[in-house]
Amino acid sequence: MVDLKGQYEKIKKTVDSSVLEVLDSTAYINGPKVHEFQKNLEDYLGVKHVIPCANGTDALQISMMGLGLKPGDEVITADFTFAATVEVIALLGLTPVLVDVEPDTFNIDVEAIKNAITPKTKAIVPVHLFGQCADMDAIMEIAKEHNLYVIEDNAQAIGATYTLKDGSKLKAGTIGHVASTSFFPSKNLGCYGDGGAIFTNDDDLAHTIRGIVNHGMYRRYYHDVVGVNSRLDSIQAVILNTKLPHLDTYNKARQNAARKYNTAFKGQENIITPVFKKTCDSFCENCDCHVYHQYTLKVKDTDRDALAAHLNEKGIPCGVYYPVPLHSQKAYQDERYNEEDFKVTNQLIKEVISLPMHTELDDEQIAFITSTVINFVNG
Ligand SMILES: *Cc1c(COP(=O)(O)O)cnc(C)c1O
Repeated sequence: MVDLKGQYEKIKKTVDSSVLEVLDSTAYINGPKVHEFQKNLEDYLGVKHVIPCANGTDALQISMMGLGLKPGDEVITADFTFAATVEVIALLGLTPVLVDVEPDTFNIDVEAIKNAITPKTKAIVPVHLFGQCADMDAIMEIAKEHNLYVIEDNAQAIGATYTLKDGSKLKAGTIGHVASTSFFPSKNLGCYGDGGAIFTNDDDLAHTIRGIVNHGMYRRYYHDVVGVNSRLDSIQAVILNTKLPHLDTYNKARQNAARKYNTAFKGQENIITPVFKKTCDSFCENCDCHVYHQYTLKVKDTDRDALAAHLNEKGIPCGVYYPVPLHSQKAYQDERYNEEDFKVTNQLIKEVISLPMHTELDDEQIAFITSTVINFVNG
């Protein structure tokens, strides 16, 4: 699904020498390199504070801790996402409220959010799924009206741009009150181990969070709040520092691959290619509204699982993200849920299939993948 090796080969010299430099420096955790990366990412995103941490799941949890959410508070998030999002809500004793998504973008459905709000609702967690922002204009409006926090789960959309109603552009993860991201190796900006970060423009929240990631300490050995141990190490930081200047190029390579896939699938009635946000008039020629963490098709009148097996047989990796809706997962069942409220997710799990998507895809690979899919779907 990804070609981490091919990407590494191109930056190997810089990565290897900077990793060796860290080994030599013995500043393995929270050293100057982590600080340097933090500054570089703040500049790139145009956000006041980046707080690096150990992984994207921690970043979500710490964001919620920083906002002071308390057991019993309800947090609305999408039914169609990776489990990390709902997991941390539950872990903190908060009440996850899963809602349906849009059939075209796969992102959280704004009407469903509105219907799920109760007096106990404290926050909304939009997940910018597969590389494209949720409808942040509408979500921020709802949040304002109901006095809710917005925590963007930006694990899949780093580098994406969101165009607001007024035409101004913001990077994904800098629109809500706080955001989390992941540097898991296969993410658009991946390190070579685990890593994550929290973004916010709120000075007080950033201060609170900087303490939480470090055992709740604001002064050494004085623990003012209950914290966690969640740090980015210096080796990951130098790798990220090497890769960050390439992020836009990496995302362009993904967009190019997506464009070629789309062109090949044009006119195929039973193959629905990804829909990008309505504000994007061209195919990301002049914007980055979609950074294709995944290239996800919907197939109609086709046995999706048989298609996946066929692709694997032909040596083409593919993935089904996600095969089970969160509301149907054993860990997250809730008697308040009604199947009728998850019509879109229940349909998507049968139709979606993600094709290989990374920075190193070439024309020959794309031609082979698309013709194999088309031949199977047309049976
Ligand atoms: C990857 C991912 C996470 C978790 O990130 P980790 O670094 O693996 O903990 C959270 N949310 C979404 C949507 C993700 O894709």
